[in-house]
Amino acid sequence: MNTVADLFGNKVFDDRVMKATLSAKVYNSLKKTIDEGAYLDNSVANAVATAMKDWAVQNGATHYTHWFQPLTGITAEKHDSFISPSPDGGVIMEFSGKELIKGEPDASSFPSGGLRATFEARGYTAWDPTSYAFIKGKTLCIPTAFCSYGGEALDKKTPLLRSMEALNKQALRIIRLFGNDTVKCVKTSVGPEQEYFLIDREMYNQRKDLVFTGRTLFGAKPPKGQEMDDHYFGFIKPRVEAYMEDLNQELWKLGILAKTEHNEVAPAQHELAPIYTTTNIATDHNQLTMEIMQKVAAKHGLVCLLHEKPFARVNGSGKHNNWSLTTDTGVNLLSPGETPYENAQFLLFLCAVIKAVDDYQDLLRISVAAAGNDHRLGANEAPPAVVSMFIGDELNAILEAIETDTPYNAAEKTQMKLGVNVLPKFTRDTTDRNRTSPFAFTGNKFEFRMLGSSNSIACANIMLNAAVAESLKIYADRLEKAEDFETALHEMIRKTIKDHKRIIFNGNGYDDAWIKEATEKRGLLNYRTTADCIPRLLDQKNVDMLTAHKVFSEAELKSRCEITLDNYCKTILIEANTMVEMARREIAPAVEAYIKELAKTAALKKSVSDEVSVVYENTLIKELSVLTERIFLTAGDLENTLLTVEQHDNVIDESAVIRDTLLVKMNELRVPCDEAETLTAKKYWPFPTYGDLLFGVR
Ligand code: ADP
Ligand code: MG
Repeated sequence: MNTVADLFGNKVFDDRVMKATLSAKVYNSLKKTIDEGAYLDNSVANAVATAMKDWAVQNGATHYTHWFQPLTGITAEKHDSFISPSPDGGVIMEFSGKELIKGEPDASSFPSGGLRATFEARGYTAWDPTSYAFIKGKTLCIPTAFCSYGGEALDKKTPLLRSMEALNKQALRIIRLFGNDTVKCVKTSVGPEQEYFLIDREMYNQRKDLVFTGRTLFGAKPPKGQEMDDHYFGFIKPRVEAYMEDLNQELWKLGILAKTEHNEVAPAQHELAPIYTTTNIATDHNQLTMEIMQKVAAKHGLVCLLHEKPFARVNGSGKHNNWSLTTDTGVNLLSPGETPYENAQFLLFLCAVIKAVDDYQDLLRISVAAAGNDHRLGANEAPPAVVSMFIGDELNAILEAIETDTPYNAAEKTQMKLGVNVLPKFTRDTTDRNRTSPFAFTGNKFEFRMLGSSNSIACANIMLNAAVAESLKIYADRLEKAEDFETALHEMIRKTIKDHKRIIFNGNGYDDAWIKEATEKRGLLNYRTTADCIPRLLDQKNVDMLTAHKVFSEAELKSRCEITLDNYCKTILIEANTMVEMARREIAPAVEAYIKELAKTAALKKSVSDEVSVVYENTLIKELSVLTERIFLTAGDLENTLLTVEQHDNVIDESAVIRDTLLVKMNELRVPCDEAETLTAKKYWPFPTYGDLLFGVR
């Protein structure tokens, strides 16, 4: 039996393996590329490729793949074997530096949103040496970026790496202004907490809605839901425990630091949190985690649902993106320091985030937009669609004191003079975590809580990094020219607080009164749906900022807008079609069969004697007949609406019609179907109910 320490990372070509298998010269050269982005020359690439291949073959691999994240949101891989014929008729295992660095998948079917005409369909993949290669099954997976021949990013990794670089550049300018010449780079770290549901595979297979769309489109409220709160952090059932154990082992082998796991609020809902790491690695790891969660579930006769809202009236699943900024010398820039200078630097970075979140509320909202997540945001189970920030009462009081030049602590008359006074000690808010805030400061990091469970975390981090880079750039431009650094710094922090305090809200984000205040008094944005917010990606101020920092080109932004809306439309169209099919071919016939049995029973009773009561049968027959008629009519209505949607030839119009009419018609069909479920004998109902699904894993 292996210990965790033996197991950990044993399928990863990590630093330990590199040190052991590469010559000192090659290792040092590769390290320079990884840590500082230095150019990698051919001889080094060849040496790394050979070592990587030998290690992979020793560990059972026969194939390799350039592993990438196209705009579909999932990961892609095309396997090539290492074998190459040898003159004696046998084979040798070969892998060159060229094959390591660049791949050319025939990837013409990946969405490009117009970035790539099919005649130049062959995009290429390029090795990302900052994320370790790993073995999955019998394949060596090499994390790569995916670009078109014109150089446009066709994936999520490329803009993510660019956004990290933009932030690094601006953060270094600020750090230099504080007199620090030793720090070489600033990286963002992320720890994403992942929620998911586990249900029984046999039951899953009986539901077309789950199979086709990942969520239930029908289902009456079960007698018991999540109202008792008895699942949250409750004891973990044996089957789930076995699953989690197996999952941890698989993740550990891949060097993924799965750390905590617990039951979530809804029955059958769980959460997994890793230890945080550099953002692009955290992103790769989260993609892998989602994939492995599903694979391990299959081994246990389970299905892992990553959809944001698998069940109506039951909390859905999200992802919390814990984000911080760290220097290569190990200093967390979002951690208040011990000296006046450190405090001032901390406050400046804090303000940069406050300004970024306010100025680019729309981009943050856009970064989490997807059909599935629209069901959660603002539904009193996840933050509202209005972006705001929680910083806690004490930090708020400090900012107010700076803004108004009044003593922070009235009794002691502590005036806050930046760069002179030590920041008053404020206790880290660990008790009231304010779960309702979309963007919360939690002592030394920010927790962005609007992400959906199936989202790639790349999108949120791209926008966050870019927006903070922009704040820092504006600060650095001004401070580098200032005659008196401290005065300029103080003024700038004050101005940020004054201009952007509307984004700070420490109260209950689920409260309707907040949404009213946010939108009417504070002028914050409230984009309820994906169809509302995505077109705003192309607003001039967003295009200007993202292109200025070279995170996206304008063409890339247009492609993202197109692809996201197209995905929204297709997702809901598939749902609507599935509903029509299930209502017509499963639900209505099941109810009719039950009506037939009731009618037969009534007739049988009457044949015994006219005196026997058939009120029960007749009343039910009447009620159910009203429902089957409504099912028949609303299914027809939904089908007609589907036809009108198809007539639109641009995604912006199409998504608006889907939002305004199709989703409404879908709800209208669901109502009589769910009501029929509550009146139809169990043995006639054609698929497992909410009660079966949510409480079916023991
Ligand atoms: P808390 O209880 O305050 O939420 P946890 O330790 O439970 O803190 O962290 C939740 C998630 O946040 C974990 O994935 C963790 O690794 C991550 N995290 C902790 N510190 C940081 C940090 N400085 N930067 C980014 N993520 C962090
Ligand atoms: Mg959390």
